[in-house]
Amino acid sequence: MSRLVLVLGDQLTEEIAALRAADPSQDIVVMAEVRDEASYVRHHPKKIAFLFASMRKFAERLRGAGWRVLYTPFDDPENAGSICGELLRRADETGATEVLATEPGEWRLIETLRHCPVPVTLCEDDRFIASHAEFESWAEGRKSLRMEYFYREMRRKTGLLMEGDTPAGDKWNFDHENRKPAPDEIANDGPPRFDPDATVEEVLDLVEREFASNFGDVRPFWFATDREQALGALDHFVTRALPCFGDYQDAMLDGHRFLYHAVISPYLNAGLLSPLEVCWAAEAAWRDGRAPINAVEGFIRQIIGWREYVRGIYFLEGPDYTARNALGHDRRLPDFYWGARTHMRCLAQSVAQTREEAYAHHIQRLMITGNFALLAGVDPAEVHDWYLAVYADAYEWVEAPNVIGMSQFADGGIVASKPYVSSGAYINRMSDYCKSCDYAVSRKTGEGACPFNLLYWHFLDRHRERFEGNPRMAQMYRTWDRMDEDRRRTVLREAGAFLDRMEAGETV
Ligand SMILES: Cc1cc2nc3c(=O)[nH]c(=O)nc-3n(C[C@H](O)[C@H](O)[C@H](O)COP(=O)(O)OP(=O)(O)OC[C@H]3O[C@@H](n4cnc5c(N)ncnc54)[C@H](O)[C@@H]3O)c2cc1C
Ligand code: SF4
Repeated sequence: MSRLVLVLGDQLTEEIAALRAADPSQDIVVMAEVRDEASYVRHHPKKIAFLFASMRKFAERLRGAGWRVLYTPFDDPENAGSICGELLRRADETGATEVLATEPGEWRLIETLRHCPVPVTLCEDDRFIASHAEFESWAEGRKSLRMEYFYREMRRKTGLLMEGDTPAGDKWNFDHENRKPAPDEIANDGPPRFDPDATVEEVLDLVEREFASNFGDVRPFWFATDREQALGALDHFVTRALPCFGDYQDAMLDGHRFLYHAVISPYLNAGLLSPLEVCWAAEAAWRDGRAPINAVEGFIRQIIGWREYVRGIYFLEGPDYTARNALGHDRRLPDFYWGARTHMRCLAQSVAQTREEAYAHHIQRLMITGNFALLAGVDPAEVHDWYLAVYADAYEWVEAPNVIGMSQFADGGIVASKPYVSSGAYINRMSDYCKSCDYAVSRKTGEGACPFNLLYWHFLDRHRERFEGNPRMAQMYRTWDRMDEDRRRTVLREAGAFLDRMEAGETV
């Protein structure tokens, strides 16, 4: 009796566990573009197009490798609209009575598959370096779950940048050599741009028709949509950008959306690239003298450190993680996150780039859009929905710990040891946004004062009880306390007035 083998849109590799456990001579692959998955948040049209196009090409690849594939396009009149609906329909059609699937990266979908009318066997998704069991055993009994220690375990496990038992260059972490402010010139023109072929064009037309009201531009579309193209994007990064990746990792420039970032997260998360092959390519560049250790270590740390760590946290913390709100924030997400006008250049630029590219790099996500939402006290559930919708690489396992944990401190400090908040001074140091802003970053109060300057103190003041005992924040509270009382009152009053104007829908 044949079985159905479910392959989800972010499981596009022949190495995925369910395919490895199946038999191409008997079992039947099921893939489907369903409304439930495409619309449970209002995904960016580029994200939907990337996934549908990559799924269609992967289905062809599997057919070429001898699999029987039943593929349901979004606009197929028979499309049941949900994953379980499609499994049921295909089971009726083929007589199959069971399904093999690889564990999805989201509690919602795991629950759905557990309650599917056709019995589903879930295989663990072993595309990651640490299994659930390994992460749980690392976390067990620890008072705090700091990424750095987990990362060292992953270095030892993979042997990446190791010389026997010691880390290459005698240091685990070269971050103090990184994080330079933005340079005047960027010698990298960003990721390669792949011209849409007939399959991609067909999907772009479909997405334009069906998702016209979602936030984001579907064209111009340049993402890789198959493995060969994704490998090309990786090679392009390693050759042209990796050598400077570390130095300018935290920089932001108005005219350069990608700087020296890899722009490979959509491909990694959808299965077109594997984390280890990406790290091996970077390590080889260091061993051959094509990239310095600070760049390569920084890059590998993002992948076998942060990426693995946030996944571990998501599954360790359980399905209620996305509902956490440790700071009790309840403000609506301002309309300028969806493209309404704002005078804040840093936000306007980060959102405009997000609308056009479905991409912003880490520091834009953390220190511009994330920082502002946290300072302003926006409901973390709304912030989470926004991030999940607008980025082409967003899946809950990776997005939620970054947003709920790292960026909004809504998990109460599991991921971050202190909130990632800053005044305008940090943004001015790391970017050139302030030069063309309607606000003045040098102004702390009064007409034209940078809102980040006001909200920064407002945040610290309203959360004093929680944070003043945190040794990493003591200096900030000392600075606040040294200001004279009048000044403090003015800052709080102006911050409050700014928030009121924003809440009333004024352009701020
Ligand atoms: C608020 C917020 C939300 C985020 N949401 C997502 C998300 O939905 N999906 C996502 O993949 N990443 C997310 N990140 C992490 C990071 O911003 C992106 O992985 C990165 O910007 C992707 O671009 P890149 O490929 O050019 O990355 P690079 O800067 O070139 O880094 C290389 C790779 O390292 C990995 N990486 C780096 N930082 C992280 C991190 N903190 N967590 C996990 N992986 C990391 C990614 O796979 C990335 O491709 C988020 C970060 C923040 C602060
Ligand atoms: S002045 Fe303030 S609001 Fe304007 S770009 Fe700089 S940090 Fe952003």
